[in-house]
Amino acid sequence: MSSEPLFKPTLILHGGAGAIHRSALPPALYARYHASLLSYLRSTKHLLENGATALDAAVHAVSLMEDDELFNCGRGSVFTSAGTIEMEASVMVTSSVPSRDVTNEHAGFKRGAGVIGIKNVRHPIRLARNLLRQTGQDANGNPVDTDGGGGSMHSQLAGPYVEDLARKWGLEFKPDEWFWTKQRWEEHRRGLNKDETDSHSTLMADGAHTYPSQGTVGCVCLDQWGDLAVATSTGGLTNKFPGRVGDSPTLGAGFWAEAWDVDVGDAIPPSIGLRRITMPTTGGKSIWDMTLADCLPGPSSFLRGTFEPSDSQLNSPLLSYQPYIDQKPSLPRRKRRAVAVSGTGNGDSFLRTAAARTACAMARFSKTTVSLADAVSAVAGADGELQRSAGRRWNKTSEGMGGMIGIEAEFDDEDTASSSVLRRGKVVLDFNCGGMYRAYIEDLDGEEIERVMVFKEPYSSDR
Ligand code: ASP
Repeated sequence: MSSEPLFKPTLILHGGAGAIHRSALPPALYARYHASLLSYLRSTKHLLENGATALDAAVHAVSLMEDDELFNCGRGSVFTSAGTIEMEASVMVTSSVPSRDVTNEHAGFKRGAGVIGIKNVRHPIRLARNLLRQTGQDANGNPVDTDGGGGSMHSQLAGPYVEDLARKWGLEFKPDEWFWTKQRWEEHRRGLNKDETDSHSTLMADGAHTYPSQGTVGCVCLDQWGDLAVATSTGGLTNKFPGRVGDSPTLGAGFWAEAWDVDVGDAIPPSIGLRRITMPTTGGKSIWDMTLADCLPGPSSFLRGTFEPSDSQLNSPLLSYQPYIDQKPSLPRRKRRAVAVSGTGNGDSFLRTAAARTACAMARFSKTTVSLADAVSAVAGADGELQRSAGRRWNKTSEGMGGMIGIEAEFDDEDTASSSVLRRGKVVLDFNCGGMYRAYIEDLDGEEIERVMVFKEPYSSDR
């Protein structure tokens, strides 16, 4: 691993997004969310600044949220319609630095992994990370932490098989009682007594419907070496059917990370021309009998462009011109863009729109340059792809509601010489519903500001 930091590390976290109403978030409850999010933001930033990889930092942040009852993951997970808890988690990595694709410690990993239907594992996110590290299987079909298996280890595994792996890997298990929380149980009971369209909603005093916070958590980190990682963890949706698979463990739906190269300048062709030379004699041989390649300093394959002497040059009896090439051509200049995103909201809508990859693919494949910020808004912002996917059901159920966070980082090889200045990633987010719990570092002209927010506007204690 390069010892020289290339990037200023940065990060963003989310709790849930949904029809969160100010009237359902009194100051005391808001203060609890604020304190939790701020402390996880700070401890993760501290790790990143002290050399943690993006993957370790993102898993750290999510593990903390998995122990916090406020969030719908790990200990605070919601119940299925059968009164059970089935958790899901995922991780994905990429790098903004081309050379690290082959040399970094991620190279031995699969790029992404998700675990499904997990019971009693205290930190499902650690299970997802362990699965990411397994790329092969030994002769007995057991996962191995090496590349020897030829990439034969799967990217998604479901319980109970993967729980046996968690035991083998020494992960911590907790009994059912540890995961039981009063608030989630009450949400579950209330939901069972309602019909399908409003089984998740509660009517507020102002006439609006609110849905139990779809509180999936996620964290996206950029480390000092330019690597990006996303970690996402959830209990799913309140009263989901047992066995339902959501977006959070599904690559491309609730999370994604990728990097690609872009040309940022044309190749520079060699400069070719004619130079006057003093050649008293050519021994009867015309200089034009020499091929252009004979006159070039390097292999003729470098040659781009055409050389066409004029008639008068060709017919000159003095033979006093020689073709020349002044410089070697350069290959097109390239830079690498890397993105990683995590989503929260109605997972079935994220699945139907392949929301996370759709946002990243917009940034990658659009004909004009589209920033990750704009792509995330086009999917998860007001009137975006998720909202439109709900059609007539928009605002009648939780369908289509959600938000997304992410980081975009760029690495331009040409900057390498001036790398005393650390590059910076860009933190992005958007949501199409009442609110999204989130904490992030905002870069204001080089000054780092901690932000903890729920709504579009800052929380105010007067309604
Ligand atoms: N996306 C999650 C799911 O549907 C729920 C959430 O984000 O809160 O499983």
